Amino acid sequence: ALNFNAGPAALPAEVLIEAQKHLLNFNGTGMSVMELSHRSKPYEEVHDGAISKLRTLMNIPDDYEVLFLQGGASTQFSMVPMNLLKEGQTASYILSGAWSEKALKEAKKVGQTSILASSKESNYNSIPEFTLSDLSSDTAYLHITSNNTIFGTQWQSFPDSPVPLIGDMSSDILSKPIQVDQFGLIYAGAQKNLGPSGVTVVIIKKSLLERSTDALPTMLNYKTYADNNSLYNTPPTIAIYLLKLVLDWVENQGGVTAIEKINDQKAKLLYDAIDESEGFYNGHATLNSRSKMNVTFTLQSEEATKVFLQQAKEEGFVGLNGHRSVGGCRASIYNAVPLENVEKLAEFMKKFSQK
Ligand code: PLP
Repeated sequence: ALNFNAGPAALPAEVLIEAQKHLLNFNGTGMSVMELSHRSKPYEEVHDGAISKLRTLMNIPDDYEVLFLQGGASTQFSMVPMNLLKEGQTASYILSGAWSEKALKEAKKVGQTSILASSKESNYNSIPEFTLSDLSSDTAYLHITSNNTIFGTQWQSFPDSPVPLIGDMSSDILSKPIQVDQFGLIYAGAQKNLGPSGVTVVIIKKSLLERSTDALPTMLNYKTYADNNSLYNTPPTIAIYLLKLVLDWVENQGGVTAIEKINDQKAKLLYDAIDESEGFYNGHATLNSRSKMNVTFTLQSEEATKVFLQQAKEEGFVGLNGHRSVGGCRASIYNAVPLENVEKLAEFMKKFSQK
């Protein structure tokens, strides 16, 4: 399939083939990875290998922990304030889409919150403007969503925040080099650029762990994961194994710098198809907020959209329906979507508009 699903998303074919090869007998153990004890040596190598490879690929400084959790990015909407927001402090949120709204909704249940900026009024077609000096002196952290999966907008650079910056990077982690030390905490559900669903990656500055109190439920306390190498309880072993294979694949592509170049080419192909269509397709995002992961666009009528999606389906394209809040179409072009599949889609878009 020419898979443009928003999530769970396409995985590199090489990863699936490798996993299939070892499915019944992992490294001579006579067992599948998912049958191994999570305390066994062969599993430990997978687990530690995944952590160290992510550290290398993202150039994660030593004063950060890499944690594997469950519950998806959605659980982080609660864990972030539960661990990092103290009484008498305010958690500040920049609203750039539905996922940041959901993050804020959970934080409100934990403590005091404020909204530094929002682009809701323009149906989240851009990353909002903001002034860091507007943050009050009691701000515990500033939360952003680096890529807005539904609306197709993406932060092009990150602010040097005076308070810990928290980034939901679920839909653009590992798509380009980033400077981890601009953040206090980064979280991402794996199911777009990192692997299958079932594991959530948290990268947290060690000094922030001091904020997590023992009063927190054990499994919702970052310290539990940091103190136990994310092995306090049974981790999602098969998901971490697949994550490790995806990281090996990224390394083989030449790392995130090489991946970024391909991602730039893929995004350009689709945005050119939109821009050169003379209004046949309309991009949802403003030019300076365009996402290189999720390309959102509308056609002139619902009828035209229906015909477009039907013909695309007949040609083998999967997952192009837009989210109901934007309408139209969305092509998700995460790391694993091959350049040639994007070329085929751009070609199809051109032919369809000409017809
Ligand atoms: N944040 C962003 C940016 C997302 O795109 C998603 C899911 O698509 C989520 C959070 C929720 O992730 P999960 O389904 O892992 O809870």
